Amino acid sequence: MQGAIKYEGGSIYLEEVGPEHTTVRYKLKELLYSKRSPYQLVEIADSYDYGRMLILDGCVNVCECDEANYHEMIVHIPVLLHPGPVNALVIGGGDGGTVRELLKHDRIRRIDLVEIDAEVIDSCKRYFPSLASSLDDPRVHVYTEDGVAFVHKAQSSQYSIVIVDSSDPVGPAEGLFTLEFYQSCHRLSDDYGIVVAQSESPYVYPEILKQIHTLFCRIFSTVLPYRIPMPTYPSGQIYMMMGTKQEVLSLTNDASRVREFLLRNDSSLRYLNEQILNSAFAISGDLKRLLVGEI
Ligand code: SAM
Repeated sequence: MQGAIKYEGGSIYLEEVGPEHTTVRYKLKELLYSKRSPYQLVEIADSYDYGRMLILDGCVNVCECDEANYHEMIVHIPVLLHPGPVNALVIGGGDGGTVRELLKHDRIRRIDLVEIDAEVIDSCKRYFPSLASSLDDPRVHVYTEDGVAFVHKAQSSQYSIVIVDSSDPVGPAEGLFTLEFYQSCHRLSDDYGIVVAQSESPYVYPEILKQIHTLFCRIFSTVLPYRIPMPTYPSGQIYMMMGTKQEVLSLTNDASRVREFLLRNDSSLRYLNEQILNSAFAISGDLKRLLVGEI
C-alpha cells in the first residue's frame, strides 16, 4: 500500500492507494507532526471524519475512531483463550495501544514490546498519550530494535502470548511475514502459547492472507483467522491470524473468567462484548474457499 499527504486548493488531504486501483482520500484538519526516521516517514494528523491518525509512509496505521476495535481484538481474544497467561511479547505496536489492552489483565506480569522505530514511540507519547502512556507502566519493557532479530535470539518457551502488531509487509516489516519468523514465535511460546499476527484483508491482499494462513497451518495445532471492522483500513476490515500450540480451547470453557473480565472493564471497552466474543471466529463462505485454495 502507498499513500501521501497532498495540498490542494488550500486544503490538506491524505490519499492512500490500496489495492492498486482504489484510492481513499481523507480531508485533514491539520498536520501536527512530520519526521523521516531511518525506517519510514512518520506523520500525525487530525482528520475531519475519523479523528487523529498515525500515518506511516502515507498509510494510516492507527486512528482514534477505530483503534479500540483493533487493539481490543488483537489482545483479548488470545489472552482470554490462554489458561494461564503470564508473559506477553508484542512485536511492532510502538503506539502503545496493544500494551494498553494487555495491562487490563492482572495475570500478565511482564510485557516485552519490540518496536523498530523509536520515532513512532516518541511521537505517540506526545500525540496519543491515551495509548502510549501505557509504555511507561512498570510491567512493560520496551526494546527499540528489529523484531526479527529479537525473536531469533530470544529464549524458548517464555511467552504465553505473542502478538505481531506490525505495519504492512513492505520495508522494515517484510521479515515479520515469513515462515522462519512465525517458527521463532512458536518456539518462544509456552505449552499453551498463542500467536496472533496482523494479516491484512481478503479484499485488498487475498494472497497475503492466504500465505499467512498456509504458513501458520504448517506450524500450529489450530489456526483461526478472525475479522475486525476497521473503517480506516482499506476495504473496511482487517484479519488477524491466530495459531495455538494446543488444540483450540473455547472461549466458553472458562465462561466465568470471560464474564468477569468483561464486567470489570465494561466502561473502558469500546468494541468488545459478549456477543462479539461469541461470534469472533465466524468466517464467510468466500473466505473459507480462499483459504482452502478454491478461489
Ligand atoms: N495498528 C496497525 C495497523 O493498522 O496496521 C499497526 C500499528 S503499529 C504502529 C506497526 C509498527 O510496526 C510500526 O510502528 C512499525 O515501526 C513497526 N515495525 C515494522 N517493522 C518492524 C520490525 N521489523 N520490528 C519491529 N517493529 C516493526
